Amino acid sequence: MPDCIFCKIVAGELPCSKLMEDDTSLAFMDIGPIRPGHALLIPKKHYETTVDMPGEEVAELLAHLPALAKAIVEATGADGYNVFQMNGACAGQVVPHVHFHLIPRHTDDGVAFGWPAGGYEEGDMEKLAEKIRSCMT
Ligand code: 5GP
Ligand code: ZN
Repeated sequence: MPDCIFCKIVAGELPCSKLMEDDTSLAFMDIGPIRPGHALLIPKKHYETTVDMPGEEVAELLAHLPALAKAIVEATGADGYNVFQMNGACAGQVVPHVHFHLIPRHTDDGVAFGWPAGGYEEGDMEKLAEKIRSCMT
């Protein structure tokens, strides 16, 4: 995709601090880290969101997640890590090329994510679950 920053990184037209690479996947340091060690795991092929990707390619990409997360945690002395993945501008996706954020976390590191827990009226959760099940292909 000509105007895609991450496609340019994959093609070597833009630099990155590479962490791992194979035929289909690439991981590199995020240039604007939430915490030092924040990394991005991407498919080399351009897909805008994960629903555009064949399941096997998602599996191939995520097969790298445990080893990458383990290395990031070890290198940063983190106590844990977050994995985030945004799909669509409404969900906070800025770069429209699939990427998984891996963010090392330390106890009391001051990073807080707003997560407003909602609820359902009686019966609404099961109704929506049924609708979602009926949309599964
Ligand atoms: P999004 O909000 O789309 O999930 O996140 C995009 C991420 O890509 C951001 O965390 C941002 O810092 C990172 N990013 C944007 N441009 C570049 C770049 O040119 N190089 C690197 N390494 N990261 C980038
Ligand atoms: Zn791309």
